[in-house]
Amino acid sequence: MLNKIKVVYTRFIIGLACAIALFGCSKEQADSDNGAVQLQKTYKWKMVTSWPKNFPGIGRGPETFAENVERMSGGRLTINVYGAGELVPPFEVFDAVSQGTAEIGHSAAYYWKGKSAAAQIFTAIPFGMNVQETNGWLHYGGGMELWREIYKPFGLIPFTGGNTGVQFAGWFKKEINSIDDVQGLKMRIPGLGGEVFKKIGGIPVALSGAEIFTSLQSGAIDGTEWVGPYNDLAFGLHKAAEFYYYSGWHEPGSALEFIVNEKAYQALPKDLQAIVEVATKAANQDILDEYTARNIEAMQTLKDKHKVDMRALPADVINALKQASLEVMQEQAAADPAFKKVYDSYSSFQLKAMDYHKVSEYEYYKNRSDTDN
Ligand code: CA
Repeated sequence: MLNKIKVVYTRFIIGLACAIALFGCSKEQADSDNGAVQLQKTYKWKMVTSWPKNFPGIGRGPETFAENVERMSGGRLTINVYGAGELVPPFEVFDAVSQGTAEIGHSAAYYWKGKSAAAQIFTAIPFGMNVQETNGWLHYGGGMELWREIYKPFGLIPFTGGNTGVQFAGWFKKEINSIDDVQGLKMRIPGLGGEVFKKIGGIPVALSGAEIFTSLQSGAIDGTEWVGPYNDLAFGLHKAAEFYYYSGWHEPGSALEFIVNEKAYQALPKDLQAIVEVATKAANQDILDEYTARNIEAMQTLKDKHKVDMRALPADVINALKQASLEVMQEQAAADPAFKKVYDSYSSFQLKAMDYHKVSEYEYYKNRSDTDN
C-alpha cells in the first residue's frame, strides 16, 4: 500500500515537473515568437518639413535624422523626408502631422501661433534665452512638459529638433544710426520680433524664405532678417543689401521641432519609440554643431571675400527694442492664459540663467576677449 502511494506520488511529481517544463517551454516559445513578429514588422513613415529639400542646416538635419533612425532600427523604421511643398506647403506641417497625413514633421513652433500663441515661446522670444539656456529649460527645466501639454489637444508629441544658435539682426539697404532711421522702415521679420519692431516705429512684413531675396533686391522691403551667415550667404542676401547688422535680438537661439503623430508613435514597439526619441536628441545637437561650424566659416567669407559691412545695432535702438519686447510679452500674457503659463516658466528660468551666465559664460567671453587683445 505504502509502495503504491510512493509510486503515485512520484508519478505526480514527475508529471508536475513535466507540466511546468512544458508550460515554461511553450511560454518561452510564445515570447520568442512575439519578439520575432515584432522584429519582422517594418514601419514606413512620411516626414513633412517647412524647409526646401536638403536646404543647408535645417533641411539637411531631418535627412540625417531619418538615416540614423533607419540605421539604428536595422531598417525596421524607414522615414521618407519631403521638402516644403512636396507633400504639403511649409506652413501646413502642423495640420498634416496632426491629421495623420504624415507621421512626423520638422518645423518651428513659432509658425503655429494660430493654434496656440504659447507655441511661439518654444522657438525663441526677443531678448530671451540662448541655445544652451533654451535646451536646459526644455529638457531639465519643465519646458518640454509644457510644450507637450500645449500640443496634446492636437494629437501631437513635440521633440527638440535642432537650434540655429543666435541669429543676426539682418540685412539693410541703408545705415541704421539711431532710432530715427527705423521709423517707417519696411523689414521682413516674423512673429513676436515683428510685433516688437512695429512698436518702435518699423513696418514688419511677412514673407516666406523663398520671397526674401527678390523683395530685398527690388526694394519692396528695406531690410530683412533670415537666420545667420550660413543660411544668409546661401540665399545671396549680401548681393541685395549693403549693411549686415548683429546680433539677433529677436531670435537669440531658435529651437526647431520634430512633431510626431501621437497615434503613430503609440503604434511603435517600445524599442523603436526609444530610437525615435534618442535620434531627435542627436539631431538637436547635430544641427546646432553644424550651424556653429558653418556660421564661423560663412562669416569669414562674407567679410573677406564679399567685403560685407558688418555692424552692431546702435544702443538706443537696442534699448527701445528691449523695452518694447517686455511690453509685447506682457500684452500677450494678459491676453492668453496658456501663453502666461509658459512665459512664467520660461522667464523665471531665464532670470536664474542670466544670474548664472553672468559669472560663467559672460565673464569667460569677456576674459577671453581681454586676453586676445
Ligand atoms: Ca529668423
